[in-house]
Amino acid sequence: MIRKLLIANRGEIAVRIAKTCRELGIEVVAVHSSADRDSEVVRLADIAVNIGPPAPRRSYLNIPNIVEAALQTGADAIHPGYGFLSEDPDFAEICESAGLIFIGPPPSVMQDMGNKATARGLMHKAGLPMLPGVVEPVRSVRDGQEIAADIGYPVIIKAAAGGGGRGMSVVHSEADFSDAYVSTREVARAVFNDPAVYVERYLAGARHVEVQVLCDQHGNGVFLGERDCSLQRRHQKLLEEAPAAHMTVAQRERLGALAVHGALSVGYTGAGTMEFLVDGSGEPYFMEMNARIQVEHPVTEMLTGIDLIREQILIADGLPLAFGQQDVRCSGAAIECRINAEDPARGFAPTPGRLDVYRAPAGPWTRLDTGYREGDQVSPHYDSLLGKLIVWAPTRDQAMSRMDRALAEMAVDGPGLSTTATLHRALLRHPDFRADRHDIQFLDRVMPSLL
Ligand code: ADP
Repeated sequence: MIRKLLIANRGEIAVRIAKTCRELGIEVVAVHSSADRDSEVVRLADIAVNIGPPAPRRSYLNIPNIVEAALQTGADAIHPGYGFLSEDPDFAEICESAGLIFIGPPPSVMQDMGNKATARGLMHKAGLPMLPGVVEPVRSVRDGQEIAADIGYPVIIKAAAGGGGRGMSVVHSEADFSDAYVSTREVARAVFNDPAVYVERYLAGARHVEVQVLCDQHGNGVFLGERDCSLQRRHQKLLEEAPAAHMTVAQRERLGALAVHGALSVGYTGAGTMEFLVDGSGEPYFMEMNARIQVEHPVTEMLTGIDLIREQILIADGLPLAFGQQDVRCSGAAIECRINAEDPARGFAPTPGRLDVYRAPAGPWTRLDTGYREGDQVSPHYDSLLGKLIVWAPTRDQAMSRMDRALAEMAVDGPGLSTTATLHRALLRHPDFRADRHDIQFLDRVMPSLL
């Protein structure tokens, strides 16, 4: 049984994990960089260990220091959160060989799902629907152009090791292929340390719909509904909601079943997300699998009443799922807005600094997951996510009104600080978003008119 858990992360997700540990009676070990010594998770933890200077490479990505902290404090498990080391199979393996439970899927499954081209191949074998494309890395410009001509333009060139919306280029014609290929490989090499890229059809006007799955170590899997994450800026999510109300119930149930089948077919365990693109008629195409907890998991928690961090811990403990698919009830509608310290008017440039004013909204079915308190510094070393505002209501319309009310209550201020809160309010009022008619290009298209 897990009695003491080390959280190898920071910010809101570290706090989120700590809270569930408390409820389960599990002791919390927080690790932090010197920039985060007064952070919220440090205040909440039973034990806090400084693992290095602010630069992530020297602290939150520093495997020896993290494993050492776990061994010295007597932790028996490590939760990696999202980002940082959460998708690093070497880290998972090192934890396991040090006798620590890594909260996530087996390292080999992580490795396969971490490479989008490999994941595509495995899910294709499992019978999941795919956009036309290849699984082997493209060998040369000529090779890529031949593949693209076969698939038909537009295509998207993607870094196999990519993530966070980076390492992707849309190509509309053969003339543009060469430049896009060279620049995507450059980004892939520089950011992901692996230049391999592959090509698939670019689906214009699509929606991003993802399915939350939970698989235990005994071959049982369930899905907890889906989330629509079509509201994106440059391929990065900004607002997420559930359910994907533009799909029929039958389409959503089929999608959920496909997701569970795909996850079980690769031996997945724990909480995972199967991401799909969905076209105008509701047809899904597998895109990638994220082998970790997602930023937007609270949307699913609000819809189902299931604590996903708790389930992750119980599964890692070896317990079978305590419920089956027929026990999962999704009700109402939930929305999450990412409140980032960014200036939407300046291309979403980060605005780090001191939080002189930071007041959370409250009220019925209103939740703020955050790692910050008033007076804290937002460090330029880490991502700009201040907090996630999540609401639930019986209908999508009511959830939007509730979110608007909550956003209006939220007060954030500091020298030079901007947030995405005002943009969210404008989006909630946009007729296309209100009518659920938006797609993944919507935000980039309407941004100029919202500023
Ligand atoms: P990442 O791992 O970087 O988040 P994803 O593969 O999940 O990358 O893709 C991120 C986003 O890029 C998707 O949500 C979607 O908006 C867009 N995208 C990816 N592949 C395609 C495609 N084939 N057609 C259209 N849009 C795509």
